[in-house]
Amino acid sequence: MFCFQCQEAARNFGCTQVGVCGKQPATSNLMDLMIWVTKGLSQVATRLRAEGKQIDKDVNHIVTYNLFQTITNANFDDDKVVERILLTIAAKEQLLATLADKNNLSTAALFNNADVSTYAELAKTVGVLAESNEDVRSLKELITYGLKGVCAYTKHANNLINENEELDAFIQKALSDLLEVKSVDELVALTLETGKWGVAGMALLDTANTSTYGHPEITKVKLGVGKNPGILISGHDLRDLEMLLEQTQGTGVDVYTHSEMLPAHYYPAFKKYPNFYGNYGNAWWMQKKEFESFNGPILMTTNCIVPPAQSYKPRLFTTGATGFPGCKHIAGNIGEQKDFSEIIALAKTCPAPTQIEDGELVGGFAHEQVFALADKVVDAVKSGAIKKFVVMGGCDGRSKSRDYYTEFAKALPKDTVILTAGCAKYKYIKLNLGDIGGIPRVLDAGQCNDSYSLALIALKLKEVFGLDDINDLPIAYNIAWYEQKAVIVLLALLYLGVKNIHLGPTLPAFLSPNVANVLVENFGIAGISSVEDDLKVLVG
Ligand code: SF4
Repeated sequence: MFCFQCQEAARNFGCTQVGVCGKQPATSNLMDLMIWVTKGLSQVATRLRAEGKQIDKDVNHIVTYNLFQTITNANFDDDKVVERILLTIAAKEQLLATLADKNNLSTAALFNNADVSTYAELAKTVGVLAESNEDVRSLKELITYGLKGVCAYTKHANNLINENEELDAFIQKALSDLLEVKSVDELVALTLETGKWGVAGMALLDTANTSTYGHPEITKVKLGVGKNPGILISGHDLRDLEMLLEQTQGTGVDVYTHSEMLPAHYYPAFKKYPNFYGNYGNAWWMQKKEFESFNGPILMTTNCIVPPAQSYKPRLFTTGATGFPGCKHIAGNIGEQKDFSEIIALAKTCPAPTQIEDGELVGGFAHEQVFALADKVVDAVKSGAIKKFVVMGGCDGRSKSRDYYTEFAKALPKDTVILTAGCAKYKYIKLNLGDIGGIPRVLDAGQCNDSYSLALIALKLKEVFGLDDINDLPIAYNIAWYEQKAVIVLLALLYLGVKNIHLGPTLPAFLSPNVANVLVENFGIAGISSVEDDLKVLVG
């Protein structure tokens, strides 16, 4: 195996024996094969579009699902990956039969081997290292990881019956391009184009979420526990949450959020459910401890699975693109009702969650809510009460070096406001950093995809202050990354022209020295150093 797609890549080089995340070599290789056949499918679909033919939504969904399934901590189940490879080949063969121009198709597009026993060996030939040029490999993987991120967001939007055919066409065109010999310049251009479509993907999900569940609003979320048994729901999929809430009404079972599902509390539509109790615990990497003490069943709706301890594994359920061998998977395709009755029945036999903290936190500062406060915010900036905003969104993770973000948040001057989204917030959202004239010093927009909100807020401020350049705003960026959704957020920010982003706790292992230099020279990307030094650079 060779995998270097996330921030935990061994020695900041790559996982070669087993994933630090727990991914086994066989799974990693099969995922490489799945990405490869998905590129083949994408090439055929892209040619068909060029021939003026329509591509069925189901084909688009195969592509987005496949890429999502390979995101760090999403799926550890070899059988599920093999299932997807076979399904992808079958879909591609159907399309191929309708393609007029079959000249110069790639090996991936022509691959139709359904003999699963050959996959393990074959997979070793199509992985990351199959590209020998270090810079080309770096750029191709940067684009691939960005595409994985946008596919995750697209999949959630699709679950709410929101589609963007142009976006799907781009994803497939880009995957198809990655099969071809490309120059570094062409790949740099494709990287930026991926960022552009990353914005479109986040916009699609924002529209899907807000048109279905309303615009997030300022909300206090309880951190303690009640007396009823509970179900803990984690991940990002709001449609799964909605179905779970519907099915738990009147059962005596409460529903709690974990990690990236916390922002669901900010949506008006979910406030009508009396058993939607609060948030339990912290970011994904704390789950081994927190799932134990939760006592009840846990439903994983997207990536963020840590290989479970045997003690709570029978209580861990997966759905959507997630999977773990030995954990029950709740089926249900786009538009279908999922049946959570087994989870609810199990919850009724479990004790109530053990309390691990108390109090509440405040969030819900997505774009519409912040626009509603715009006058107050602008006045605070004009009067000097707010000197600077610091975007500290992104991911949390288990590395000790991430304590930097807690210390950085604590050390920020009292006239700064943190704008956040994603699970990075758990490093500081419970610190009680106070407020500036009623504006909390930590404004949480929501999940990582709600970084889109932070971009809209920045664009709004640029308009209000009559600036030509987004970089003239009093906003600094100190972003924490972990997996591939953060990659698309980064590419989206670069596309929007944001410069001088600090990225940590380490720069991605998949950036070759030359590619890293391109990012430094053109966009001012930098790593992090000490809290003291970074404060001087970012806040002055
Ligand atoms: Fe290693 Fe991250 Fe890949 Fe897991 S996803 S194998 S931790 S680089």
